[in-house]
Amino acid sequence: MAKIVLDNVGHRYDTAIGSEGAYALQPMQLEWEDGGAYALLGPSGCGKTTLLNIISGLLEPSEGRVWFDDKDVTALPTEQRNIAQVFQFPVVYDTMTVAENLAFPLKNRKLPVAQRDERVAHVLELLGLTEQADKKARNLNADNKQKISLGRGLVRTDANAVLFDEPLTVIDPALKWQLRAQLKKVHQQIGHTMIYVTHDQTEALTFADKVVVMLAGAVLQVGTPQELFDRPQHTFVGQFIGSPGMNILPCRLERNVALMADIRIALGDEYPAVDGQLELGIRPENIDLVEMQTYPQASPKDSPKASPKASPRPHPVKITAVDDIGRFKIVQMLLGQQPIKVLFPEGWPLPQSPGVVFPPQHINIYRNSVLLPPIVGGVTL
Ligand code: ATP
Repeated sequence: MAKIVLDNVGHRYDTAIGSEGAYALQPMQLEWEDGGAYALLGPSGCGKTTLLNIISGLLEPSEGRVWFDDKDVTALPTEQRNIAQVFQFPVVYDTMTVAENLAFPLKNRKLPVAQRDERVAHVLELLGLTEQADKKARNLNADNKQKISLGRGLVRTDANAVLFDEPLTVIDPALKWQLRAQLKKVHQQIGHTMIYVTHDQTEALTFADKVVVMLAGAVLQVGTPQELFDRPQHTFVGQFIGSPGMNILPCRLERNVALMADIRIALGDEYPAVDGQLELGIRPENIDLVEMQTYPQASPKDSPKASPKASPRPHPVKITAVDDIGRFKIVQMLLGQQPIKVLFPEGWPLPQSPGVVFPPQHINIYRNSVLLPPIVGGVTL
C-alpha cells in the first residue's frame, strides 16, 4: 500500500499546439493517505474517471506529477503501478471456477499455495461466495459475477491501492446495500488504500472515511461525511449532499444578521462586510417548524427538534406542499417570497399557524458560492 500524491496534476485532452482545449481536470493538489477509504463523488462529466485513470496509469496527465510514496510514477504504465481495479461491468474468466478466478492474480504473483488458498477463502467468505467457490463463473448471475470482480480487486495484499469505478452499477438494488456494507468491512479488515468512484451520494457516504466532491473538473471539498453535511465549503456540496439538499437562500449581511427582504435572521457569528453574491445555507433537517402562537413555550416539549436554549422569534411561513417520504415529511413552504424545504417527523400534526426558526449554529454563510468564515475574536478566520 502507498500514500498517493497528486502534485499539481491537471489534464486537458486536447493539447495540440495552438488548439489547447479546456481542462477536463483543473490543476489540483491532493493527498490520499496510505490505508484510507476514499470516495470520488460528483455528477456525470465532472472528471472522476479522468482522475482515476491518472492514478491507475491509464492516462498520463498533461500537467503535474503523480507520486506513490516517494516514487514518481507519472509516466509508468498501469502494470508497473501495482494497482487493483474493479470496473462497472464484470471482468471474469468464464471457464474458471469462482475460486480459480480469485486465485488468478495471486498465482501470477507466485504467492505460495497455502497463503493463496487462505487468502481466497477469506475473500470468498467476506463476499458471501463460499458456497459458489467451485462453480464455473459462466453459470453465475450478473450480481455474483460482479462479486468475483470485486473479489479479484480485494484478494491481493500487495496492491498499492484498489480503485473502484462505479462497481455497483449492475448490482440489484437490494444487494447493493449489503455489498456496500461488506466493502466497508473489507476495508476495515484489510486496510488497503481504496478509491471508490461514484455519482451516488449514499454509496460515497456509506463507504468512505473521506469523500472528495468534484464539479466541472475541480475538487470542491475533501471531508468526512459529517463535515460535508455540517459545513459544506461550497453551495454545490450543500445541495448535492443530503436529500433534499441544503436550502440556499440569497441574503444580505449586517454584521450578525442575515436579511432576506425584511426578514431578519439572527446569526451565531459576526461576518465581515463583503461584496459579491451572498447566500444563507441551512439544511432541511435543521430548521424548526413550529406553532407561531405558542412558540417557544410549547415547542421544546412538543418538538424534540426545537432547542429550548435557542429560541429566536419564529418567522411566519406559508406551506405550499407536503411530500411523505416514510419516517419524514418534506414540507415545502414560502418564507416571504423564498421557497424553502423542511424535514418534519411523520405522525406529528403540522402547525396551524406555521413559523420557522433557524438555529444559528446550523447556519452557513456563502459568498460567491464559497463558505464565508465569520469574524472570531476581531479577526476574519
Ligand atoms: P461519468 O460519471 O459520466 O463517467 P466523469 O465524472 O467520470 O463522468 P470524465 O469521464 O472524467 O467525467 O470526463 C470529464 C470531462 O472530460 C468531460 O467533459 C468529458 O467529456 C471529457 N472527456 C473524457 N474523456 C475524454 C476523451 N478521451 N477525449 C476528450 N474528452 C474527454
